Amino acid sequence: MSDAADDAVGRFSSMLGRLRVSVTHACQLHCKFCHQEGIQSHWRPIHMSVGTFDRLVDAFVEIGGYEIDVTGGDPLVHPEIAGILRVLGGRRLRRALCTNGLLLDRVVPELEAGCVDEVKISVHASDDSVGKALLGRAWSSARLDGMLLLLQQIGVPTTMNFSVTSENFGEFDAVLEKSFEMGTNLLVIDLIGTRWDLQQEELCDTSSDPIIEKLSSLSTLSSVTRDRTGCRISVFKGPGGQRWMVKDVRNGLLFTGMCNGCALKKRCGEGVFVLRVDAEGAFRPCLIRPDLEVVHPIEHMGSTSLRSALEERIGVMMAEPCAFEAGQSIYT
Ligand code: SF4
Ligand code: SF4
Repeated sequence: MSDAADDAVGRFSSMLGRLRVSVTHACQLHCKFCHQEGIQSHWRPIHMSVGTFDRLVDAFVEIGGYEIDVTGGDPLVHPEIAGILRVLGGRRLRRALCTNGLLLDRVVPELEAGCVDEVKISVHASDDSVGKALLGRAWSSARLDGMLLLLQQIGVPTTMNFSVTSENFGEFDAVLEKSFEMGTNLLVIDLIGTRWDLQQEELCDTSSDPIIEKLSSLSTLSSVTRDRTGCRISVFKGPGGQRWMVKDVRNGLLFTGMCNGCALKKRCGEGVFVLRVDAEGAFRPCLIRPDLEVVHPIEHMGSTSLRSALEERIGVMMAEPCAFEAGQSIYT
């Protein structure tokens, strides 16, 4: 690795940069706010092979990567998801499974074997009809409750993600109750529209302030911090020791030289520090700018070429200068 590449990857990892690997394009849901990881459709069954995933993980570990998130589509739809998770067993990096959770019973042995450090599970609703309207007919409250119970029995660290929209705002209390009962962390995500479609903008134009007020009345605010994309996160310590977090995507972003001259900067909710790689070999530093994407014949690449491909895009992402910008100066 050249000194420059070494330095870029080192800074990426020290700022907790993640590799998000979309192991399949497929998902059984149709969430109205889905950013689709930059792909065109969740209905194309394109899956990354276990061998390719293995080489990609090797390459990321070799360059000193800090965290890998397995995502999709929904990763549990992948026909070989158990093999994919087994690749992560014993690896020296942080490993998370990001999922809508409905098919978690497909990977019980892998969860029990500690193949991932954390499951990040979408819990955007509690009521079945609200959930089906927002997330699609395949969503099921009863099914999700069963899977949450399963996670609790296995004892795998879990964070429930609740994305706030105008349609599920009223579900927050019930989701909070689940987090309280299970003792799991809860991350509330105050979204902004990322696809510039008016319907999504309207859906996501819902303030999380009342949620912050509610959490303040039930628990103690332990910190207000920035996450790796520069978004503001208010962290509360719940009564059972769990963390309740509210992430405000509007308020503050972390830009690097990659963002210099970007026409979308004023409305960007993306920030940096998440490099995405998908089953078609697209390496995406930013969901919103297809011009920053490079496509490689990933199924035919060895870990050395995968390492170079990762270093090259991380170098672009980490271009100097890096700067935090306050929300007020971006969203006037
Ligand atoms: S579960 Fe995730 S990948 Fe599937 S539609 Fe919803 S947001 Fe998109
Ligand atoms: S390059 Fe991407 S992350 Fe940077 S400002 Fe533009 S849209 Fe945002």
